[in-house]
Amino acid sequence: MGRRKFYDISVSLGGESIDYPGDTPYQRKMVQTFENGDLCNLSEITMSAHAGTHVDAPKHFFEEGKTIDALPVEKFLLKAVVVHVQNSVSVEPADLEKVTVQSGEAILFKTRNSTEGLIEQGVFEEGFVYLTRKSADWCLQKGVGLVGIDYISIEKYGCGSSPVHRKLLKKGIPILEGINLKSVPAGVYTLYCFPLKIRDGEGAPVRAVLMD
Ligand SMILES: [Zn+2]
Repeated sequence: MGRRKFYDISVSLGGESIDYPGDTPYQRKMVQTFENGDLCNLSEITMSAHAGTHVDAPKHFFEEGKTIDALPVEKFLLKAVVVHVQNSVSVEPADLEKVTVQSGEAILFKTRNSTEGLIEQGVFEEGFVYLTRKSADWCLQKGVGLVGIDYISIEKYGCGSSPVHRKLLKKGIPILEGINLKSVPAGVYTLYCFPLKIRDGEGAPVRAVLMD
């Protein structure tokens, strides 16, 4: 793997990560420390299952949907197309006209959420770039295996019925949220984004990596 280039597209929890409004904020506290005379350093973490870089499973929006521990691992090791979207508001089908993605491949949207640093600023920003319903339909038509975006949610903020989540998760397509694509050029990569194996989980944090 000598010539391979790796991109860690995960955000750091507690540093760059964003608490989605209403979700349990990320917190880490030391329960044992050398400083206090303990035998080791040991911490405790409190967080939403959707904090930082994470995957949504169908169970997130469908009671009968697959849970994160039931999804086969191969769904999280796949070829991925990184698309640089210039639209500063939303990802529209018109922005995808020249995109080539094969059935089963992942598509990852790089937007100003990454290039302007919104994804790593640690503070929620309502005006993030999101995926529209029509673009979700486009993804379904292409038969993509996973959809990723560079913000903590793929859905337009304040869109109560979550149509984009529903469209994708209904077809069993995992959604990878909270990736930072700032330093990743548009192109084709291998994506690794294995979620934590949380029993009956509707979502889970991941370490997401692209290999050139
Ligand atoms: Zn989520």
